[in-house]
Amino acid sequence: MSQRPELRLRPREEDRLLRGHPWIYDNEIADVSGSPGPGDEVGVKTSRGRFLGSAIWSPASKIRARRYSWKDEPFDAAFIEARLADALVRRSRWKDPAADSMRAVFAEADGLPGLIVDRFVGEDGEGRPGSWLSAQFLSRGIEARREAVLSALAKALAPDGIMERSDSPVRALEGLEPRSGVVAGSVPERLTILENGLRFGVSLGTGQKTGWFLDQQENRAATAAWARGRRVLDVFCNAGGFALCAAAAGAESVLAVDASADAVRAVGENAGLNGLGDRVKAVEANAFDFLRDADACGADGSYGLVVLDPPAFAKNKASLDGAVRGYKEINLRAMKLLAGGGVLATYSCSFWLSRDRFLAALEDAATDAGVTLRYLEERGQAHDHPVVSGYAESRYLKGFIVAVERRR
Ligand code: SAH
Repeated sequence: MSQRPELRLRPREEDRLLRGHPWIYDNEIADVSGSPGPGDEVGVKTSRGRFLGSAIWSPASKIRARRYSWKDEPFDAAFIEARLADALVRRSRWKDPAADSMRAVFAEADGLPGLIVDRFVGEDGEGRPGSWLSAQFLSRGIEARREAVLSALAKALAPDGIMERSDSPVRALEGLEPRSGVVAGSVPERLTILENGLRFGVSLGTGQKTGWFLDQQENRAATAAWARGRRVLDVFCNAGGFALCAAAAGAESVLAVDASADAVRAVGENAGLNGLGDRVKAVEANAFDFLRDADACGADGSYGLVVLDPPAFAKNKASLDGAVRGYKEINLRAMKLLAGGGVLATYSCSFWLSRDRFLAALEDAATDAGVTLRYLEERGQAHDHPVVSGYAESRYLKGFIVAVERRR
């Protein structure tokens, strides 16, 4: 082990790493002994020689190394199997692997930098039960160990098929080409999963984007708890996770809105699968236009619960200010629609928008809408997307469920 290359940090660059952050940026490194290649293991030391763990070298990336262990140990097949086993044990505390779909591996937050694995449990198109994986290899280190990861997954989870979805743009930052396709067994065009007691069609394929957002599973149930007897508007509905949950929880009616035709079609199919077609309608529209028109029509009072679950408007630090304006606008419109008294469940999945800045945008919107917000519940991402200390990037999904009240 002592023969392997070692990187030494510049003076005073160790604080973040000591707190648990796994990334070492190119400009934090003083020097490297040996000549590590892409995906090679390197030891990490402070400028004074204190050992900080083992990392993977990625010369093309600004994130020049990712720590995978606090110890001096190899990132080999046995290590991968052990980390995967840890991740599954963690989830078995509240999930039932025989019935529940879950994010089985959440990259750095599960000690496997760059690896994301979603596991879907359900039925194929012919009603045959099974489980299927969707895997993303997003860093140099995990790409170099792809075969070991695939066999560890096969061994631990015995899936009927594995779909690789390594087509995220972040791969380019690591100097990696996109790759996707079935890499083990077979994966049906369409499968049906059970979530919150409802059936949803999920497509893991490379074609249309109607995958499934597992991170909102618990928020769908928490939001639906406010739906009984109300007219519900689910904006940015995708395949209708919130919409159907709300309908099943006793909403009077649900209108779901998404800009994607595939998503709108999926909502209709999912409503049908659950016998909720009479109370759930979906329309294809741009959310900004839809909310502006609804607001202009003076639809005040017609909705009792509005859900806002937009895509990440802020994709990086530079786009944050514009993103905040977007979050403020949709929330302002929703608050106006609810000003007669109703509940808003509003989410942001952008890591770059902090919880406090999101809250400030909501309060700005409330001020402009002339309403008081009564905070009912603060929400985060589902537990199978763990948040760990020292690694702020692991906490990305924020949500607030608030009662909107006219000022008196
Ligand atoms: N609420 C969903 C997840 C939403 S993901 C769930 O529970 O699964 C974000 C969705 O916003 C995507 O389906 C995308 O098609 C949609 N979207 C993105 N920009 C939009 C816009 N301007 N107007 C309406 N929908 C939009």
